[in-house]
Amino acid sequence: MPKKYHIHPKSTPLELEYIYKFKIVRGENCINCGKCTKVCIYQAHKRSEADPRIMADPNTVVCRNCFRCIQECPRGALEKSLEKVFASTGGAYWKPDMLLTLYKQAEDGAVPVSGAGYRGPFTGPGFDGMWTDMSEIVRPTRDGIHGREYINTSIDLGRKLNHLVFSPEGQLLSKVPDTVEVSLPIIFDMPALKLSPHIKLAMVKAAAELNTFVIMPVADITADFEKHSDNIVPRLTSAEIDGHKEIIKKARVVAVDCDSTVLGGLAALQEKIKKIGNALIVIRVPAVKEVEYTVAKLAHDGAEIIHIVADYRGQELNSPDGSGSRHLKDIIRSVHQRLVEDKLRDEVIIMASGGVALAEHVAKTMLCGADLTAIDLPLMVALGGRIYEEQQQILVLPEQLAKIPVPVITQRMVNLMGAWHSQILEMMGAMGIREARRLRGESGRAIFFEEIDRDTFGKLFLK
Ligand code: SF4
Ligand code: SF4
Repeated sequence: MPKKYHIHPKSTPLELEYIYKFKIVRGENCINCGKCTKVCIYQAHKRSEADPRIMADPNTVVCRNCFRCIQECPRGALEKSLEKVFASTGGAYWKPDMLLTLYKQAEDGAVPVSGAGYRGPFTGPGFDGMWTDMSEIVRPTRDGIHGREYINTSIDLGRKLNHLVFSPEGQLLSKVPDTVEVSLPIIFDMPALKLSPHIKLAMVKAAAELNTFVIMPVADITADFEKHSDNIVPRLTSAEIDGHKEIIKKARVVAVDCDSTVLGGLAALQEKIKKIGNALIVIRVPAVKEVEYTVAKLAHDGAEIIHIVADYRGQELNSPDGSGSRHLKDIIRSVHQRLVEDKLRDEVIIMASGGVALAEHVAKTMLCGADLTAIDLPLMVALGGRIYEEQQQILVLPEQLAKIPVPVITQRMVNLMGAWHSQILEMMGAMGIREARRLRGESGRAIFFEEIDRDTFGKLFLK
């Protein structure tokens, strides 16, 4: 049995005011009995430090909306109401609830419990139109999460052989390609934003602790980062290779943006990089229309890892408002299908990014056909970043972040991944899948709303 993979979350609150959904107000009929201090396990209710005979104002920031204090107050003195600022934060894709969830997950690595049940819609655009088959959850054989069977979330990066060739004497003739293992099906992708060096360093340290990678523009890899080269994937264009040989030499994986040089001569480019060092090569492909064609060509030409990058809402690129464009789940399904038809699917690794905002999106992207995902904005939300969707994405990071030490930022990223890891384990256990590698393309474990809607009602309502 492989060594169990553990993420070590630690309570790491940030001293800044983040969005919250409900405001708790203590009414004047409070008799200061203190019962609410005992029933709230999150310590939202405390006595006033200046005068312990009376209660301090409730601390809404730590409230998890369980409603227990409301129910148990003998005077009905507590009231919760929807906070107006909450609804105006985020946007159509990065909904305020999503931001709040990520922020809280980064606080302690736990999965926030709403306490009031799910009241949202059961379908919607993007990943919300996809449900997973969790039928194993009601079967007595389900024991993976709780001890006896180990659920493995690791993924091997690198080209795979579809068969082995032996000599008549039984000697292995095939050259088995190198692979690199990551313990999570998630890689960090440094967002294209002006980030301070201490945030970048925290991302790298978190990736090292989690045994995964950060994709980082090669120009950002200063001497300070070189000692972390085991967990950095330098990202560069084909024209930049000659100028960064020392960085490539130390890297285990490098990422090259797809351009006409890459498309026209992948074998030559790979040979050039392999002569410099022993790194695996990721080809980064924008998720534009007909990306399937590009991916299939690269896979035919021997690409090891292909990274398909959609926009921050998971939509196809070159679509200003996302209308009429495909979502990441549909793009990846189509790419996967194309590679299966070309009998190439098992040979190449597909990484997908853009719009992966929650742990469930990781599992869903993989069910659609990706081997793993890359994330950027959730890590910024973990640090208190807010996203405002207007003409284009606007991320606002809190000013106080500049003063927050690297270990705190690192731990919050680790916590977030700890929460996601727990949720991915929970989903895999409920689907009866013990290996993350087996999630890839398991669309039989998923139900797509558009398809069942069409199959059920299409005959009645479509001409
Ligand atoms: S339980 Fe109600 S009455 Fe008692 S201190 Fe809390 S708010 Fe006041
Ligand atoms: S609703 Fe629950 S979490 Fe929030 S303050 Fe009351 S008891 Fe605490």
